[in-house]
Amino acid sequence: MAPLPAAKSADDIFATLEGFAGRDADWRSGRTFAYVYDPGADVEDVAKRAYMRFLTENALAPGAFPSLVRLENEVVGFALNHLNAPEGASGSFTTGGTESCLLAVKTARDYARAAKPHITRPELILPTTAHAAFHKAAHYFGLKKVLVDVDPVTFRADPAAIEAAITPNTIQIVASAVSYAYGVLDPVAEIAAIAQKHDLLFHVDGCIGGFLLPYIERITGVAKPFDFRVPGVTSMSMDWHKYGYCPKAASVVLHRSAELRRFQFFACAEYEGYAIVNPTILSAKSGGPLAAAWAVINYLGDEGYLRFVRRIHEATQKVMAGIQAIPGLQLLAPTDTNQIAFRAEGFPCFHLVAAMKAKDWLIQPQFGAAKNRDNIHLSIGQSNLEHVDAFLADLAACTAALQGTKVSDAVLAVRAAAAGLGAADMTQATLLRLLDIGGVGPGKKPSSAAEMDLILDALPPKLTEMALTDAFSRLFTPRR
Ligand SMILES: *Cc1c(COP(=O)(O)O)cnc(C)c1O
Repeated sequence: MAPLPAAKSADDIFATLEGFAGRDADWRSGRTFAYVYDPGADVEDVAKRAYMRFLTENALAPGAFPSLVRLENEVVGFALNHLNAPEGASGSFTTGGTESCLLAVKTARDYARAAKPHITRPELILPTTAHAAFHKAAHYFGLKKVLVDVDPVTFRADPAAIEAAITPNTIQIVASAVSYAYGVLDPVAEIAAIAQKHDLLFHVDGCIGGFLLPYIERITGVAKPFDFRVPGVTSMSMDWHKYGYCPKAASVVLHRSAELRRFQFFACAEYEGYAIVNPTILSAKSGGPLAAAWAVINYLGDEGYLRFVRRIHEATQKVMAGIQAIPGLQLLAPTDTNQIAFRAEGFPCFHLVAAMKAKDWLIQPQFGAAKNRDNIHLSIGQSNLEHVDAFLADLAACTAALQGTKVSDAVLAVRAAAAGLGAADMTQATLLRLLDIGGVGPGKKPSSAAEMDLILDALPPKLTEMALTDAFSRLFTPRR
């Protein structure tokens, strides 16, 4: 056994930490279109003060920390009001969108066990644009996921295809308001009617769009009901840590009734320790994120958020118009919020991600070559507004410079090799063979990050998942 490191001074520790942070994304620059939602220094300061005040309080124990009960009931109440939930609706504060989605599915599974005990192999219907968190939920909770393709033109979930996918084992349908990938709002009312007709639970994932949509409705005067106003919507998720501009980890899962929420809880009195009741997945947890969320919501207030969403909306309209005006770029679908997906014509779009990164712009590649839907994603935040013109100028210049860039022979070879694979080929050996064809392996590196993305996107999803797992497994190699 080796001892832990020798004690160091606080000065030493902070100098080292600052050194580690030196290569992190510079998200305060307004040049990132993913990962961090920047509300500006004053909001960040309020969030940090509240966070630090409650950092060490433990939300496991409401009896010991009644402050956290008060804060949670208010933050969940704000969300219920924002999404027009009826009297009697309820919910919980969670650590993020993933936990909110997991809990919505866990609730459905346990509700079905009680209300429909004849179902032994429960199924979850997911449009292909439903977030990966639902795939994770199906995986964790032992549900069969039934994937339904979205409309190939609008990228919205297809109600008829959803209805056709219902079986006697279906327990829940999921839709997005809006989808992360394309920013489009699924036809919630139509899907809700189908869910009601078949007596199914229906979750609307508003993780990224749920907070913005009511403000966009106020700004544009156009109402597209997507929330609890729609009968048949039984649960929703909404992230405070995206466009609520609260620090991570802050989200809510909401249910139409407190009775339904009971199926989300876990209680245990059969173990020889303290009695446990956990509304959410974690047990002991910091009060920091909750207090920070409460503080940011109160600090920005309705006026502050309306001001932010006006900026987001304006920036989004400018970026959409700008992209449409660049020869060689093509929007996939007009967004309903601020998530934009676009493709390049005449060259593989992932090269554009790399070219923009060289100019310090952070944008996200999204896979989908098999359906000709590989694209670039932008999440436009309030801090991007002042940088839109510079962004579009660089985007136009990079696009012009990349015209004529071909998909490499190596990527074409991987695509050809992948085309002939069947279910039995989804093995580590096949992965290594295909990567080798792509020029990736021991001692062989892809020529660029874009080339690596193209290779990953050329693999069947099962092999891409394996490759990503391998990569993270290498990345997170403990230092000893
Ligand atoms: C971000 C997102 C999630 C997952 O949220 P995390 O906070 O990253 O766990 C789920 N659904 C949608 C639509 C999202 O945009």
